[in-house]
Parts: sequence; C-alpha cells; structure tokens
Amino acid sequence: MNQHVSSEDNPFDAMQARFDLAAARLGLEPNLLGILRSCEREITISIPVVLDDGSVKVFEGYRVQHSTARGPAKGGIRYASNVNRDEVRALAAWMTWKCAVVNVPFGGGKGGVICDPFKMSKGELERVTRRYVAGIMDILGPDRDVPAPDMGTDGQVMAWLMDTYSMHNRAYLPAIVTGKPIGLGGSLGRIEATGRGVMLCTREALKHLGMNPKDCTAAVQGAGNVGLISALQLHALGVKIVAISDVHGGLYNEKGLDLEGIKAHLQKSRKLDGFDGGTKITNSEILELPVDILVPAATENVITSRNVENIKAKIITEGANGPCTANADKVLDQKGIFVIPDILANAGGVTVSYFEWVQDRMAFFWTQKEVEDRMEHIMVESFAAVVDMARRFQVSNRIAAYMLGVNRVADITRMRGIYA
Ligand code: GLU
Repeated sequence: MNQHVSSEDNPFDAMQARFDLAAARLGLEPNLLGILRSCEREITISIPVVLDDGSVKVFEGYRVQHSTARGPAKGGIRYASNVNRDEVRALAAWMTWKCAVVNVPFGGGKGGVICDPFKMSKGELERVTRRYVAGIMDILGPDRDVPAPDMGTDGQVMAWLMDTYSMHNRAYLPAIVTGKPIGLGGSLGRIEATGRGVMLCTREALKHLGMNPKDCTAAVQGAGNVGLISALQLHALGVKIVAISDVHGGLYNEKGLDLEGIKAHLQKSRKLDGFDGGTKITNSEILELPVDILVPAATENVITSRNVENIKAKIITEGANGPCTANADKVLDQKGIFVIPDILANAGGVTVSYFEWVQDRMAFFWTQKEVEDRMEHIMVESFAAVVDMARRFQVSNRIAAYMLGVNRVADITRMRGIYA
C-alpha cells in the first residue's frame, strides 16, 4: 500500500502533474521546481496502543510537511484504513497551494493514521491520538506545524491533541491546533466553514455564468462535515438538492430532498440508510446525474478517465481534496464543465482555521458575524483572482488556481533564498 504507485490514482502524481503544467505556464526557473515539487519533511511512526481487550496493536502514522516557506505547515489529520504516504504527501502539497490561493500565512502539511475510527471505542481513539501526537511532537508547534481535523477526526480528537501537546509543554497552548471545540479556543463558524466556502464559490460561479440558483439542481457526494453542510448551505441559497450520499450509497429525489430530515436522521444513526424520502442510488450513479451542480465532497479519485465522459453537471465544486484525477481534467475541459478546484472550493475551512489560530494567539475572540464576513471577503476575492488568471492565461480554473498558489510560494522562496 505504501510503496510509490505511479498511476492515474496516485494523488501525489496527480498533484505533480498539475504543478508541472502551472509551473510551465508561469515559466518557473528549473532551480525552483525541485524545491516546490517535493515535501520538506516527512515522519513515519509506529503507534503501539493497548486496545480495550488488553491486546496491543501497532498502528502506522505519518506527518508530512510539504512547505513552510510562507508560514507554519497547516493541515488536517486523517484517520482511515486506506491512508497511505503518497496520499498524505499530496494532501500536504494541496494545503500549501490552498493556503497560498486564499493568501493566509501558512505552508502546507498533512497527517494520517491507518486505522478505522468507526470500529474503535472512544478510549482506543484517545490512546491512538495521544500516542500519535507524542510521536510527532518534535515537529509540531504554533509556529511550526498546526494540525486540524480531516476525514475520520473531529473536535474531540483536536481537544486530545491540544491537551497532549500542552501537558508536555507545561503551558496552555490552544494555537497548536485548529478545529477545536469552542470552549477550548475554537472559533465560531469553523465547523460550517468548509461547506460555507463551497456554497460561496458556487454562488460566485453561478453569477459568473449568469445562472440563477433558484433554477438549479445539485447532487452532493458525501454527507459528513463538508457534504452535509454544503448541501444545507446551497439549499439556503435556493438550489434544489436532488441527491446526497455517504460511504454506503445515496438517495435521489428529483423533487428535492428533505435536508433537515436527513440531518436529524444522520445525527441519530450516523448513516443515510434508513431514511426514506428518495430512491436509493450508488456512489457512482450520483456523479452521473443530470444536475446543474455536482459537489464531490467525499474523497479522492471519484471522477477519473473511467467515468468522466458520463458527467452531466455544468458546474463541479470540489468539496473534497483531489476528487478529479489529472486524466479526467482534460475531458472536463473539453466538455466545457466549469470546475471550481479543491484548492479554492474547500479553502473556507483553512481560512477559518487561520482565524482560529489568530484568535488563540490574541486570546481575543470574534463574533460569528466577524468570522463569516472576513471569510466571505477572502473567498469572493480568491474566486475572482482564479477566474481572472484563467481568462488572462487561457487555462482551466484548476491550472489558474495552481498558478496563483505556486507563484506566491515561488516568490517567497526566492526572497528567502537557499540557506547553505
Ligand atoms: N482538513 C481540511 C482541509 O483539507 C482543513 C485543514 C485546516 O484547517 O488546517 O482543508
């Protein structure tokens, strides 16, 4: 699983393929390419944990820092049974470009532990988390590397991370991590931030294309923090949500789904299954529905050379990181689909993570409105900058976003020079 697999489905290759196109259009000097294409630092650790039955299981965990040129590495920690090193590398690099696209002063990093959080008790999760944090602690720090939630982790995991780090450092250090519970120095608006950013980008795209949200339908793949909140936010904008799915499959109703009912059902049973109000569809069918807006908000590599021809949406807003492969990009372009790339579309999350870090360092907290207004300003400006870059260079939105991000990191790298 962890050896380098060069294929359409290797996310790190997919990242580098887009990076190379953007770097070529920017005319980046060869000396910079090697620096920006690779990760600055990677740690792999063994995490021995006593399970509830008394046995010891050794988990594998990673923390990768792709770049700290523009600020501390920033990015989530993923708990999933299929996590692997190239995926974490790609996710770390995407964080670098994402933070640069929205111009927040962070680099990019990502962490992962190979485990299935849905099959573990709360005690086991806590022990995995604390031992993982203890194992990577030397490279973490509010000015070094600031983790956050990602797939399979949440505010509780961040609270344990904050506590473990603070105990070792003999100090109260909330700025070590973002996405924490509010009482522990979390920010208002952080939980909704990624989904709200997805909505804001989609709203801007609709304006740009002269489409009215009230005449549009959408399908959302994913019903977690990103998928469900994106669906709710788009619904509030007037878009009719006709389909949503989770890992087990989805629901389709051409008249529009009862999202509040789905939200309540998910809070109770943690899966969509058992909610009626639509017909069952699979996770591949949801991508091929005849909708105006498609929001892949689950995981990587769901739109590939194998199914891209069947995509019918006019707009794809990438709530997930890396849902489209580099091979799929070409066909999406040919089909004239307006893609809002992940490093822009889901950047609302890290934008509010930045606000959380700022508030923690000031020990002065903002209102929900202050958070939302500042975030909206950043998302709207970043969307405009990407679309403007795409127009000026006649490239896709994805390559435009990479160009914007890569150029900002390249500028700083040149200024800082190479320490010898
Ligand atoms: N895991 C989220 C992402 O992929 C959030 C990262 C953060 O807030 O640092 O963007």
